[in-house]
Amino acid sequence: MPEQDPSHSAAHQSVPPATDRLTAVLTLQKRAHQADMYPALQTRRDRLDRLDRMLAEHGERFSRAIDADFGGRSGIVSSLTEIVTSRAAIRHAKRHLKAWMKPRKASVSWTSRPSRAFILTQPLGAVGIIGPWNYPLLLLLGPLAGALAAGNRAMLKPSELTPAFAEVLKAAVAATFSEGEVAVITGDVSVAQAFAALPFDHLVFTGSTAVGRKVAEAAARNLTPVTLELGGKSPAIVDRSANLELAAERIAWGKLINSGQTCVAPDYALVQRDVLADFLQLFKAEVARQYRTFEGNPDYTSIINDRHFDRLNGLLEDARAIGGEVEVLGDAPSREQRIFPPAIIANAKPGMAVMQEEIFGPILPVIAYDTADDAIALVNAGDRPLSLYWFGTDKAVEERILKHTLAGGVTINGTILHLAQDGLPFGGVGASGNGHYHGEYGFRALSKEKPVFRQSRLSAMPLLYPPYGRLARLIIRLLNRLA
Ligand code: NAD
Repeated sequence: MPEQDPSHSAAHQSVPPATDRLTAVLTLQKRAHQADMYPALQTRRDRLDRLDRMLAEHGERFSRAIDADFGGRSGIVSSLTEIVTSRAAIRHAKRHLKAWMKPRKASVSWTSRPSRAFILTQPLGAVGIIGPWNYPLLLLLGPLAGALAAGNRAMLKPSELTPAFAEVLKAAVAATFSEGEVAVITGDVSVAQAFAALPFDHLVFTGSTAVGRKVAEAAARNLTPVTLELGGKSPAIVDRSANLELAAERIAWGKLINSGQTCVAPDYALVQRDVLADFLQLFKAEVARQYRTFEGNPDYTSIINDRHFDRLNGLLEDARAIGGEVEVLGDAPSREQRIFPPAIIANAKPGMAVMQEEIFGPILPVIAYDTADDAIALVNAGDRPLSLYWFGTDKAVEERILKHTLAGGVTINGTILHLAQDGLPFGGVGASGNGHYHGEYGFRALSKEKPVFRQSRLSAMPLLYPPYGRLARLIIRLLNRLA
C-alpha cells in the first residue's frame, strides 16, 4: 500500500473505502509498469502461459460457478463459448507475439532520405477491463490476453450479476498473478462506477450501450482512451437464394445458445416474402431437433434473473397486444426455473417493443421484405448493429448488402462465428461500440504505436534554416511544384 499523505486525511474521510482500495491497486500496477516499461517477449509469454494454465486447472470450477449464477447453464456451453475460446485466444497471442512486437519499418518522404523511420509498439501501462454477465469469463479474459500480450498490467471488474464466478476468478487470479500484474476487483455497481472513474491508461468496457455511455463519460474526465464493446439489434437476413435448411439451422443455433443472452445473437430475422412460410416451418423443426424439451433440459440455459425474465415476458405481451402472431415453441415460460422457451413473432412490426430494444433472449421476431433494398432500409433505419448475418448465394445481392449496411462484423451463411476468428478484428460501430480487439487488433489497441524517426547525418534541412533568402524561396517553390 502506498504511504498516505497525512495532509489529506480530512478529504480521505469522505472518500468511499472502495475507491481507496482501487486506487491503491492501480498505483501498485502503475509503479510495476514504471519499473519495467517494456516487458521482454519471455515475460509476456510466461504471463500468457500462466493464464492458460489457470484456465486448464480451474476450468471446471469456473463452469460450475457460472452454472450457479445462471441457475442452470450447461458445462458444455461454458467450456465451448468461454474456456476453449479464451484458451485459443491466448495461444494465438503466444504464437504471434514475437512478430507483433517487432518494430515495423515505415517509409520516409523523399525529402528526408536517407533518414529512416519505424514504429515501436509499447505497452500503455495499467488497463481496466469491465465485463458483463452473459459470458463472464470470455469477456474478461479475452481482453486480458491482448493486454498481457501487449505488456500491460490489468485490473478486471466482473459483473455483480455473476457473484459466484467473480469470487472463483478472484481466487484463481490471485493464485496465478501478483496483484501488480493482474487483479480482480469484485463488488456492486457502486464499485463498477468507482472503477470506471480510475485514471487507467486504457479502459475496455463490454456491456450495454446505455452503461457504455456512462463509462465513456467517466473515462473522458481522465482522458482515458476506451474500447467500448456494446450491444444492439443484430439482423439475420434470409434471401430467397438461401439454402433455407441451413439458414434455419444456423439462426436457431445462434439465437438459442445461452438462450439468446449473447451480444452477437441474431436479434431478429428479415426474410424475403416468398420464402417466409418455408423458413418459419424449418426454423420450428430445427428448434425441436436441437432442444426436445426446455424445462429440465440441462442444455438449455436459464435466464439470468427475474428482472430479465419479466422483461422478456413483457416483450411478448406487448407484441400480442398489438396483433403480433406470437408462437411459443414449448410449454409456457416458467418463472420459478427462469426457463423461457423460444418464441417466434411471425409478423413483427417496427412499432413493437421487441423491435425497438435489444432482445437478449430466445425470442425471434420475423419481418417479411420484398427487395434487398427494402431489407437494407429496415436495417439502416436503426442504430448500427453489432453483427449482421446474410444467408444466400446470389453474389450481387450479397455485395449490395455488405456495401450498403454498416455493422460491427458479418458472418455470411452462418451466425456468431466471425467472433471466433482470431485473425479478424472484433468490435461494434456507432451505438454498438467503438474500437476493436482479438488477436493482433487487441495487441495494437492496448499498445502505443510510437513513431520513431532516425534523422541521418546527411540532411537537406540546413538549406531551409534561417536566415531565409532566395534559396529558401526557390526550394519552397520547387517543393510546392513536386508535391
Ligand atoms: P451492463 O451494461 O448492464 O453491465 C456491464 C458491466 O458494467 C457490469 O460489470 C456492471 O457492473 C458494470 N456497470 C454497471 N453500471 C455501471 C456504471 N455506471 N459505470 C461503470 N460500470 C457499470 O451489461 P450487462 O447486462 O452485463 O450485459 C449485457 C449487455 O452487454 C448487452 O447489451 C450485450 O449486447 C452487451 N454485450 C456486448 C458484448 C460485445 O462484445 N460487444 C458482449 C457481451 C455483451
